Amino acid sequence: MSKGFDAFKMAQGQFDQVAETLDLDAGVRAFLREPMREYHFTIPVHMDDGSVEVFRGFRVQHSDVRGPCKGGIRFHPDETISTVKALATWMTWKCAVVDIPLGGGKGGVICDPHELSMREQEQICRGWIRNVWKNIGPVQDIPAPDVMTTPQHMLWMMDEYETLMGGKYPGVITGKPVGSGGSLGRTEATGYGAIYTVREALKRLGFEIKGATMACQGFGNVTQYAADLFIQYGGKVVCISCWDQKDMKAYTYRKMDGIDLEFIMSITDRFGTLDADKAIAAGYEQLPGDAWIGTEADVLLPGALENQVNADTINNIHPRVKVIAEGANGPTTPEADAVIKEKGIFMIPDFLCNAGGVTCSYFEQVQNNMNYYWEKDEVLSKLDTKMTTAFHAVADLAESQSVYMRDAAYMIAIDRVANAATLRGLV
Ligand code: NAD
Repeated sequence: MSKGFDAFKMAQGQFDQVAETLDLDAGVRAFLREPMREYHFTIPVHMDDGSVEVFRGFRVQHSDVRGPCKGGIRFHPDETISTVKALATWMTWKCAVVDIPLGGGKGGVICDPHELSMREQEQICRGWIRNVWKNIGPVQDIPAPDVMTTPQHMLWMMDEYETLMGGKYPGVITGKPVGSGGSLGRTEATGYGAIYTVREALKRLGFEIKGATMACQGFGNVTQYAADLFIQYGGKVVCISCWDQKDMKAYTYRKMDGIDLEFIMSITDRFGTLDADKAIAAGYEQLPGDAWIGTEADVLLPGALENQVNADTINNIHPRVKVIAEGANGPTTPEADAVIKEKGIFMIPDFLCNAGGVTCSYFEQVQNNMNYYWEKDEVLSKLDTKMTTAFHAVADLAESQSVYMRDAAYMIAIDRVANAATLRGLV
């Protein structure tokens, strides 16, 4: 995030606005606008060259009133406590809007995994757990992977936790590899979850995915699986875009009669970048990076980065667009939101649209705690039910109160957490 930008101030500002609309009690507001707990600690590591380096680690538990805290751990050189606090707060609202019995947390370590050997990374993972193991666990707080952390990191963390606890506790952490406590369906969950909400949004507007078109930004985990399900439902994906590390810029690849997903997957690397020469040779148009937003389509799915649908790009949106599904976190700026409202485009806000990932993480934890694992179809059918129910609750409120979908999602989430806090007698 850019310098000078205070993510936590932004999260508090959003909360204050909804608290005002909901006319929340002053005590509830004071309680929910701050994290319940924050842990700051040092992680000394014996580096491969014999020196000792001391890393800074964090865990923030924003709220556990609806269940154990839940949220990822990020490894990033520019990590700040403000970002971790904001992300922990947003996790509380995300879990509440899909109505899973979890609260919000987030963690981080200031480090750059590109500069660290696997052994050094393992030491950071184990050191992180040694600092917080008494304060996390299946009934307290369940971390997960996030920016630059992987299933391997999660497994080292689980192993350290189990060693300290002297037992098997796979539910302490999610995002583990399948076969080591991970859940089937987790890879598909965020992209499929987004398309379940798109399917329902189009239904409310009197359309269906069969015969509809979608333009996407990005071609990573979220967009690949969103495209897969959209096509399975009979829709066409007319463009995708990706970052090209060789040319140091993004490109849009377009085929108005629909991409061939199997072919596109076969020419995409593990970072979600297409082989440009092969795409062009197969008849795909190679256009500038931001061309996806102006492409004629029924659905726009920003699925790459934050700040993409903004004051500069919003007016390029094609008049045919009916739905914007925010697969990425924070792709739309408040200025663009104002234009989207004015144009009457149906918005599926990020913390609802991409909540399939955390919902499946919750399923992973449930399976761990039972020590019984579901088939993939069962995981995906439970995911569909959760996402569809959450979507309609938000859309019903938006319709009945004539409010924007993003505001309705915040209202539902904050109201659920506030009610739980009040009923417990905390505030
Ligand atoms: P990813 O790293 O797998 O893929 C990112 C994609 O974006 C790649 O195809 C990359 O080439 C592309 N990209 C990068 N810069 C671009 C640019 N300037 N223009 C066009 N494309 C660009 O990431 P992901 O896991 O798919 O996550 C994407 C977004 O979704 C992020 O905002 C992430 O926080 C959010 N998200 C992901 C999950 C999940 O489970 N993966 C869950 C919730 C939210």
